[in-house]
Parts: sequence; C-alpha cells; structure tokens
Amino acid sequence: MAAVQQLQGVGSASAALLEKLNIFTTDDLLFHLPRDYEDRSTIIPMNQLEVGRSYLLEGTVKSVDFPPGKRKSMAILLDDELGKVTLRFYHLYKALTDRGKVGNRLRVFGEVRVGARGLEMYHPEIQLITEHTPLPQTQLTAIYPATDGLTQTKLREYVKHALKQHSDDLPELLPQKFTNGYALKQALHYIHEPPLDANMLQLSQGSHPAQQRLIFEELVAHQVSLLTRRAYIQQIAAPSFTNSKTFAKQLLTALPFKMTAAQKRVSKEISDDLKQHKPMLRLVQGDVGAGKTLVAALAACHALEEGWQVALMAPTEILAEQHYLNFKRWFEPLGLNVAWLSGKQKGKARALAEQQIQQGSAQLVIGTHALFQDSVAFHKLGLVIIDEQHRFGVDQRLALRNKGAQQTTPHQLVMTATPIPRTLAMSAYGDLDTSVIDELPPGRTPIQTVTIPLDRREEVLQRIASNCAEGKQAYWVCTLVEQSETLDAQAAEATYAEIKHRFPTLNIGLVHGKMKADDKQAVMQQFKNNELQLLIATTVIEVGVDVPNASIMVIENAERLGLSQLHQLRGRVGRGAKASFCALLYKNPLSQNGQERLRIMRETNDGFIIAEKDLEIRGPGELLGTKQTGDMGFRVAKLERDDHLLNQAHYVAQQILKDYPVQANALLKRWLPEAPRYAYV
Ligand code: ADP
Ligand code: MG
Repeated sequence: MAAVQQLQGVGSASAALLEKLNIFTTDDLLFHLPRDYEDRSTIIPMNQLEVGRSYLLEGTVKSVDFPPGKRKSMAILLDDELGKVTLRFYHLYKALTDRGKVGNRLRVFGEVRVGARGLEMYHPEIQLITEHTPLPQTQLTAIYPATDGLTQTKLREYVKHALKQHSDDLPELLPQKFTNGYALKQALHYIHEPPLDANMLQLSQGSHPAQQRLIFEELVAHQVSLLTRRAYIQQIAAPSFTNSKTFAKQLLTALPFKMTAAQKRVSKEISDDLKQHKPMLRLVQGDVGAGKTLVAALAACHALEEGWQVALMAPTEILAEQHYLNFKRWFEPLGLNVAWLSGKQKGKARALAEQQIQQGSAQLVIGTHALFQDSVAFHKLGLVIIDEQHRFGVDQRLALRNKGAQQTTPHQLVMTATPIPRTLAMSAYGDLDTSVIDELPPGRTPIQTVTIPLDRREEVLQRIASNCAEGKQAYWVCTLVEQSETLDAQAAEATYAEIKHRFPTLNIGLVHGKMKADDKQAVMQQFKNNELQLLIATTVIEVGVDVPNASIMVIENAERLGLSQLHQLRGRVGRGAKASFCALLYKNPLSQNGQERLRIMRETNDGFIIAEKDLEIRGPGELLGTKQTGDMGFRVAKLERDDHLLNQAHYVAQQILKDYPVQANALLKRWLPEAPRYAYV
C-alpha cells in the first residue's frame, strides 16, 4: 500500500480531489468500487432504456433539424423501430453533418437523459455503419463514484495502476472457505476490469460471485464493528437493580387491565438485564398499540425503587407530552416527582427543571432531545428509555453514556413501533438485544381500511360529520407533498376553517407542529376528554398519541406517505373496543408504488408484514431514516439484496474476533476507516 501520490499520474491536485472521495491510499483506490458499468459491446433496443445510464444504440436517422436558440445546435432523431432517441449536438463539424443525414444508419454511445423531445443524448459518440460493420469487442467499463474535476477516465487510469502495482500486497482477511473461490486480488480485478465474457446483468445487480465475495467481507466487517462496540459498552460498569417490589405492584394494581403475556415476557427480559452490572442495551419492538409504555414504566420502577433516576426521551414534543402526562398519572401517586424538559422551554421553568434533575429531586425526567444537551446534568441517572428509536441515530444513543453517574453508564431501553425485519435489525442494531411484544391487548377489533379517490372527499366528509354528530371521535389528517411542517400546518388550518364553517355544530379541534406546546396539549386533552369529536391534525399525531375512544381516521393525500407512516397514523385508532375505520383518500393518478402501498394498507393491519413490504419498496435507508443509513454506510452491500448473508457474516465476525484479532482490526480499517474504534474486550 502507498499514498496515492506515489501512483503514476497523480499529482497534488488529483490527490486533493481523491481525498474528497475519501481516497488517500492505493488500497482506498482498490476498494473504490464501480457503481455501475458501461457496455459498449451490446446494442440495446430503444424501448429498454433507463434514464441516467449509458448505452450503445443503433438506428436509422429519421429527421435532422437545427432548432432555433442562442446556440446553434443540431438534433438528429434516431429510430430503431422499437423506440426513438434524439441526439443533440452543440459543436457542429463536417463529419457530424455528413453522418447526420436522413436514412443513414448510425451507431451511437452516450448517456440517456430526458429533454424537451423525450429521451435524448447529448454529444454521443457517433459512427456511420453499414450492415456489415462488426460489433466492437470491448469489455465492460467501470463507472465510479466521482467528484467534480475528476473524470471517469482519470479514475480508471489510477485504479489500473493501483491494480497493477499494489494489489499483490493486499492481505486476505477472510477464511478461505468464505471467499467464493476468489482471492481478493482476483475479485478486485474482475470487478474493476471485467473480462470480455463478463455477465453484465450479474455485475450490474451485484450478484456476481466476485462481488458477493466482497459484499460478504464488508458485512463481516460491519458485524465486527457492532460486536466490538457492544463488547466495549458491556465492560463499562452499570448499576444493578433488583426487581421492584413496591412500585411495580402499586402501579399494576392501579391499572384497569392486566398485562398481556407478551408484556410480561418482555418485562422479565428487561428486569433480568437490569440485575447485571453491565449496561442493558435492549430494543423492544412492538406494533402500534401493543402497550410498550407500560413495559417502559415497569422497567423504570426497578431503577426508581433503588433511588436512581430514569430519563425518557421521545422524538416529538407531542409524544413526549403524552408520556409526561401518563407517567405523572402513574408515578405521582407513588410519591415520585416527574420533571418535563423540552427544547422550547425557556427561562425559569427550564432552570427549575434542570435544577431538580441535577439535585435528584426529580426522579423521572421526560422530554425531547433537549434531555441530552450539555447543560443537563443528572444527579444519579440509572436508566434511559428512548421511544421511537428509528428517529435517533446511533451517535445520539452513545452520547447518553456520558450522562451516567459515579463512573457508571445508564442502562438503555429502546422502544420502536416500526417493526424492523429481523435481518435489518441485526445489522442496524447488531449491538442491541431485541425483545418483541408480539401480542395486542385483548378486545381490540381490527381496523377496517378503505381507499377512496379524492373526488369523493365530499361524501367522506358528510359521513364523518354525521358519525361525529352521533358522538364518535375522528381524526382528519392533512398532508402535503413537501416535508414541511409549515405548509402542513397551513393545510390543516385551511381544512379546519372549512369544516368548521360547513358544520358549525360539531366540536372540532386543530393540532399541528407550529402551535405552542401548551395549546397543543390543551387541544389533545380536550380530545381525550371527548369534548371534541373531530380533530384536524398534521402528521404530528403520527407517533404515540393515544385516545382509545377515537375510532375513525381519515388521511388526505395518503398516497404521499410511506407505508410505515401510514401504519403509524392508522394505529391512532383501533385502540379501544369500538370497531374502527380508516379512510385513505388519494389523488389520481396513482403511481404504481402508490397503488401498491394503498393495497397493502387495505389488506393488512400487521406491522411486521407492512415493514417487510416497506423494506422491499423503499430499501433499508428510508426505513431506518437517513441517519441510520449514514451510520451503516455500506460500500458494496445492499441489505435488501444481501440480507441472506447476514447470519453467516455475524457468525464469521464472532469467530474472527475470537481467533484472529489482527485480521478483525484490519477488516475495520479496510471497510470502515471513518468509524470510531472501540477496544474489543
Ligand atoms: P404503544 O405500544 O403503541 O406505545 P401504548 O403503550 O400507547 O402502545 O398502549 C396503547 C393502549 O393500550 C393504551 O391505551 C394503554 O393504556 C393500553 N394498554 C396497554 N397494555 C394493555 C393491556 N395489557 N390491556 C389492555 N390495554 C392495554
Ligand atoms: Mg408508544
């Protein structure tokens, strides 16, 4: 391995550009893998083109014209009987005008884009041919992730040199039986410079054995990283809590219902963890309405009873408020003080809360991200509960370590209502143990879901109004295409005004993210008290809002929302014994994806099935949120494609950590050079 500057042709300017791609050494170059390939040896029918990719096309010139405009240009319409592509040229020269004559047969190579005339190519390479012109015999050409000023040609040249001069020194880090018969050097050669007979389809799908070999190695490296982090955290001391006798019992007797078997099982898993002297790292998954809050409250009892503080963090103000109210209701009767902390809270209230937290007179602290700002110091923090994990990044979770007391780190309980398919959980949260609440409290009737085009909105509105007049409670959720709480708020306000005007006798409320916390809370409380029958809302009510008596949910422009968001929203109803109903209003025409999403919503209420479908449709990046994928940062692996390798990668990572620590470390360096390092113990 050498610094890139040592390579022929790489000066300091190029080295600076390479640095932008995180390429510092020849090894980095070798592992800078193609994102795609160009195939200049196969003619592609014009009805099979994807925008953004480069193709070799062949066809007959149907027309030539010189469109008016500031710059002189030429447009050639090429036709192969299956499709048409317009070729545009802004630099005109004699050979080009000679070739561009109606009736000529041309072979062209270039990237397909969408222009004013449909599919177009700008300045393709162009060749005049006859029936006998042979096809070029060239191999696939790699296309790399690049950066401004660094051309594909340059990158290819650098990689070529690196392959020639430095691929021999690359150490093999995987046991041979997991290499698919490809030595590392061979695999890299194949991927960077595929041979003439290479299978383009396999390579562009990432399913070629040479690629799979690298993918497996990368997955192993990720597992090594997660296992290392976990081991590091587990050797830090944590307070040990025995089972709560008093608080848990008091809490449970005050409840109007009994715990489900699943809640009991998961609670036991948590209390077993809390007895250890090492920090618990547990993810509790449970579909919306499964009763995660109670499980969290029971966990809190164990810490509280031994005099430790408990913090509960939620991703939105409205959800945090709900927890605050719940926990106050449950814990104040036990003589405990529950503090509230949010980003919006300022001045005296804030100072008082921080003081109580620091002195320990607040035993429970509920809030948003604000909980983990530097200014917040805990007296004796023993347990941290995070609701709706997928909105927080791994870094934020790790930041909690520093909030522990007396050289200890708090236990962590993470709750998510987005059921994460097992394989995905394993790679995103490989450092967490998981528990699943796989049972809903009894007496719930399944939600009936219908999809209705927006032009029947009036009809829906009338029906909702008459249902509300009969005393049922309904949500009406407004969404806009932009992910903007401001615009959503405006839409909700407009809808509120409209419905209020149309149905003056109905009790209607409005909540959105731009309202003051107190106002929001007041409206939610009125809705909860059944003083309001119809609640107009934005997606702020997506998570956690719990009003068991509400049984109708209307979502406008449902086609704009992803599956997990729709499932979350729908989960606001179906929480009581009443039969519940959900209407998804959509705007025509629906994209294929949109149709698919709405169909799934109609057909199932099962969060796990919905999550699997979501993973299929959107991929893990969006499912987990950008933060998480940023953390995952795979170079060659794609979880939705390669998840079948995860179990084995996990196993191999364990073996390597145990028997070959040097290799384990080298794997981390090779695949995750940016990630923080933890000592493996
Ligand atoms: P989630 O898992 O979505 O956070 P919650 O904790 O908000 O669900 O619980 C949903 C509703 O179910 C709440 O009204 C809660 O009081 C109620 N609940 C929780 N556990 C039970 C149970 N074992 N039996 C009946 N109702 C329950
Ligand atoms: Mg919840």
